[in-house]
Amino acid sequence: MPKKMTPRRVEQYREQGAIYERFNPEGRLHIVCPQCGGLVLLCDSLSRMERKDVAQVAAKDSAAAVERLKTMLPCGERQAKAIVLHLRREGAGCRHCGAENPRGALLCAQCMSVNLDWDF
Ligand SMILES: [Zn+2]
Ligand SMILES: [Zn+2]
Repeated sequence: MPKKMTPRRVEQYREQGAIYERFNPEGRLHIVCPQCGGLVLLCDSLSRMERKDVAQVAAKDSAAAVERLKTMLPCGERQAKAIVLHLRREGAGCRHCGAENPRGALLCAQCMSVNLDWDF
C-alpha cells in the first residue's frame, strides 16, 4: 500500500459500490481513480499509435479527443471523458496536483490520482 494512503482515502477506496451501479465495465480492464472516484477504462484494446493519437488530439482539444475515443471504443460520453481527463500532458506533472512522477506511473504518489501516459 502506498505511504500516502491515509485511513480516509482507504475508506473512500472501499466505497466503490456506487460507481459500479452507474457503470458496468463488462469485464473490460479499468481502474477506479482513488483521487476522484471516476472509473477509467484502460483501453487495452487500443494500439500504441491509437493511444498516442488520442493524447495528441487531447493536448490541443479535449472535446475532440472525447469524440475520437468514442469512434475507437465501445464507450459512452462519460467513460470517454473520464479517460481524457486522466491523460497526462507530455512533459507535465500529475494532471491533478502537478507533482512529478516517473513516466508511466499509473497513480500519483502525492494525491493518488490516475495518470495515463499515452503520448509515447
Ligand atoms: Zn481521477
Ligand atoms: Zn497528483
